[in-house]
Parts: sequence; structure tokens; C-alpha cells
Amino acid sequence: MRISQVLFSQGFGTRRDCAGLIHAGAVEVAGRVVDDPDEELPTEDLVFSVQGRAWPFHDKALVLLHKPTHYECSQKPRHHPGVLSLLPTPLRVRGLQPVGRLDEDTTGALLLTDDGTLIHRLTSPKHHVPKVYEITAKHALADEQIARLTEGVVLDDDPQPVRAAAAERTGEFTLRLTLTEGKYHQVKRMLAAVGNRCEALHRSRIGALALDDLPVGQWRWVGPDERARLL
Ligand code: URA
Repeated sequence: MRISQVLFSQGFGTRRDCAGLIHAGAVEVAGRVVDDPDEELPTEDLVFSVQGRAWPFHDKALVLLHKPTHYECSQKPRHHPGVLSLLPTPLRVRGLQPVGRLDEDTTGALLLTDDGTLIHRLTSPKHHVPKVYEITAKHALADEQIARLTEGVVLDDDPQPVRAAAAERTGEFTLRLTLTEGKYHQVKRMLAAVGNRCEALHRSRIGALALDDLPVGQWRWVGPDERARLL
């Protein structure tokens, strides 16, 4: 693919913008400035850099964001900035979207992609990728409350009980909950259904993808092997 097409496909603006970056000497491949917009490059395993920042070529992008509080996952945020504002311009230009949602006051692991098929697969009710939540409850957690979360609780919009795949006490007020479905406000409603209240909520893991030490507000690429393990 021509380097100008590579930049265009990866969200670096109009074709004219991309040619401008190349002519300005801002684009490098393997440490060499590429100054001819028509230079052909193989896209497999291609890593180019623009203004000193490395970009692996991705046909479809998939990133993991450590969402802070006071950011909204909605496409049209109303009260707080949107999570997309935490991504660099090329990723926003490519139209990345969150895979599912976290509440405005929830922190933690959020996937974003421009791969519609992947969004569909990961958010489909048939897909049961386990998601791990760290909860701080308002009241000390009773063993009986924790047991009920895995036995099943009925939420207000559905007579079918929902149950956590796992619930592990991590402290007097704290709990690690694993869910394999994603109903609206599910964790908060499950806590309320057992007579407690969720004071703080953090998603630490989506399937095999853990946040590890990714700082709050930062993102990283999810590579093809990690992507395959999500499906
Ligand atoms: N469950 C909730 O209640 N809120 C979230 O943000 C995620 C899961």
C-alpha cells in the first residue's frame, strides 16, 4: 500500500493532510524518513511513526482504555466529556466506539474499536466473556448477601434471576464479582437487590485482558493474539 494511503486509512486526516505530513518529513518507517507519498510498503507488521510516535498498522483498531470517573461512554455525552476525547485524533477520526458501556462513575477496562463485527460479537447476549468488577459497598457485606449474588437475584425489569459467575470477598466492604452478561447497571442493581449499595465500581478485567498497570486515562493497543482470546 502507498504510504499516503496507509496514513489515510489509519485516520491521519485528508489525503492532502497525509501528503503534507510526508512532505514535512514527519513520517518514518524503520528509522528512515519516508518523503515520497507514493512509496509502496507492505502493511503486514508495518510500524510507522508520525511526529515521533509509533503506530502499528491495523486494518481494524482495537484498544483498551483505563476509563476514569466523570467520562461518559455515550456517543453524545451530555454532562461530562466522552471517553473518545481520551484517544488521539487519528483513532477518533477512524470512528472507534466503546464496546458496551461503563457508567459515568465507573472506572476501569473499556475496549474501543472500529470493527463493527467485533462489537456485535462481544456485546451479543450469546457471548459470555467474563468481566471482573471490584466493588466497594456502602454497608459491610454479609456472607449471605455475597452468597445470594451467585445463587441468583431478580432485578426489577425481568423475572428471570441473574447470577454472578463468581463472587469473592476482598474485604469487609469490598467484593470481586465476575459477570458473564451485561445488563443495564447490572452490578449496582444486583447489590441493591441484596440490600446493599455500590459506592464505587471498577472493572479490572475483560476475559483474558487485565488492566494491569495501565494508568488511569491511558490506552494501549490490543494485539491480534489478545483479540483472538476474547472471542
Ligand atoms: N454494572 C454497573 O452497574 N455499572 C457499570 O458501569 C458496569 C456494570
